Amino acid sequence: MAKGKIEVIKERCKSCGYCVKYCPKQVLAIGKEVNSKGYEYVYAANPDDCIGCAICGRMCPDGAIDVYKL
Ligand code: SF4
Ligand code: SF4
Repeated sequence: MAKGKIEVIKERCKSCGYCVKYCPKQVLAIGKEVNSKGYEYVYAANPDDCIGCAICGRMCPDGAIDVYKL
């Protein structure tokens, strides 16, 4: 069961991959779809594994991830 939920503000994502690298549960992945700036934005590939730790949100230099505790 997921203990957290994330929402990516896709227009802010620059596809840097920090959040993917630092998520302790391998929840995130760079997607195939691009935003209006041409960046492939992040999505939750394994949403059920999210623990709501918010590391991804803190790591993102562009404030592109909101984290909610469930
Ligand atoms: S809140 Fe934690 S577990 Fe969930 S996606 Fe972000 S870094 Fe991963
Ligand atoms: S850290 Fe932020 S900008 Fe970088 S890939 Fe993740 S959501 Fe996108």
